[in-house]
Amino acid sequence: MKITIIGAGPIGCYAGYLLAKSGHNVSIYERKKEIGLPIQCTGLLTADFDQFGFDKSSFLVNTFSEIEINSPKQQLILKGKEYLVCRKKFDNYLANLALKAGAKIFFNSSFLRREKENQIIVTENGEEKILSPEVVIAADGPLSGVAKAYDFYDLKRKHYYGIQAVVRGNFNPQRYQTYFGKETCPDLFAWIVPESKDIARVGLATTKNPRFYFDKFMLGKDFSVMEMQAGTIPLYHPKQKMVRDNCYLLGDASGYVKATTLGGIIPGMKQAQVLVDCIDNKKDYGIELKKLRKRMNLHLRLRRVMNKFSDKDWDCVVKLLGQEKVREVFEKHTRENPFPLVMKTLLKEPRFLKFVKYLF
Ligand SMILES: Cc1cc2nc3c(=O)[nH]c(=O)nc-3n(C[C@H](O)[C@H](O)[C@H](O)COP(=O)(O)OP(=O)(O)OC[C@H]3O[C@@H](n4cnc5c(N)ncnc54)[C@H](O)[C@@H]3O)c2cc1C
Repeated sequence: MKITIIGAGPIGCYAGYLLAKSGHNVSIYERKKEIGLPIQCTGLLTADFDQFGFDKSSFLVNTFSEIEINSPKQQLILKGKEYLVCRKKFDNYLANLALKAGAKIFFNSSFLRREKENQIIVTENGEEKILSPEVVIAADGPLSGVAKAYDFYDLKRKHYYGIQAVVRGNFNPQRYQTYFGKETCPDLFAWIVPESKDIARVGLATTKNPRFYFDKFMLGKDFSVMEMQAGTIPLYHPKQKMVRDNCYLLGDASGYVKATTLGGIIPGMKQAQVLVDCIDNKKDYGIELKKLRKRMNLHLRLRRVMNKFSDKDWDCVVKLLGQEKVREVFEKHTRENPFPLVMKTLLKEPRFLKFVKYLF
């Protein structure tokens, strides 16, 4: 099939690679001049990343063995393997996989508008070009112009705004840190993610006033800022349509981001695998996404519960999580699939049920 992908981010490139490998005629259009810049991401990935079988040597920055969780008055250290990648190098790795599999990538090329039925207009180095692909994939990020042109965004969508600094300081490179609490970051958490013993990515994301909370978080910390980064992150919407006419939504354009942590890379890549299977085998994308959608819905429910936590609740949660019997669950399962985490945690510690009231 003749397939046009808009957006050479990690998810568009990964889908391009899988589709080209399957024998499709794939063209990827990217509005920027190069892949992966500016960086607008921390690049933290759970151990589920191993499932993709990539050679990490060109893009891996650090591997963690511990996660520190801080609430206003409690602290907990969990064991667990996680990866930190350089987004510029990772995105280029995926773009090269796509190119080697036979996909073409056009730079400086923007999606402009949708024309009659299956035609779309892109600009290539400033010149308009008419394309008639059999399939269009919108992988153009959280504010997708393609999704707008195909009327996907008729729902009230919510976004987070992430702000991050790359800083110099003193860090334990084996461990990254998270900070929860109403005063720290009201509807997510702040993070300190070391690249090495003297460089870290420090940031947070909120739906409102990210700069205010970021500046507050940085106060009194002995860091020197090397670089600032910022970006938009979509909040998953359970009613988001995924396919309309010949156009499919993918990655951030579809809101496939875990609402608990705002990690979108692994969900988007899993979603790309489903999409490619649907295109190859003429399956219904909306139906085949059911399993992933259940996970995303549970992440969203957990986010709604967590958004109602007081600082006292956060202290209570961290204390309960710190018990050996609960800690074991979190050390065995990654957060990609929240079902075993939630079920097993509730079985081991029924006192977590007191937070169910926040669902209503
Ligand atoms: C501060 C911050 C920290 C984050 N940290 C993490 C993390 O630690 N782990 C994690 O998993 N996720 C994280 N995320 C989320 C993650 O960055 C996204 O989920 C991921 O980048 C989604 O990839 P994508 O390919 O769908 O979209 P994008 O990466 O946004 O790529 C979209 C591409 O489309 C291009 N494009 C846009 N419009 C057009 C157009 N009209 N024509 C042509 N091309 C176009 C863009 O230039 C871009 O290259 C973070 C996000 C932010 C903002």
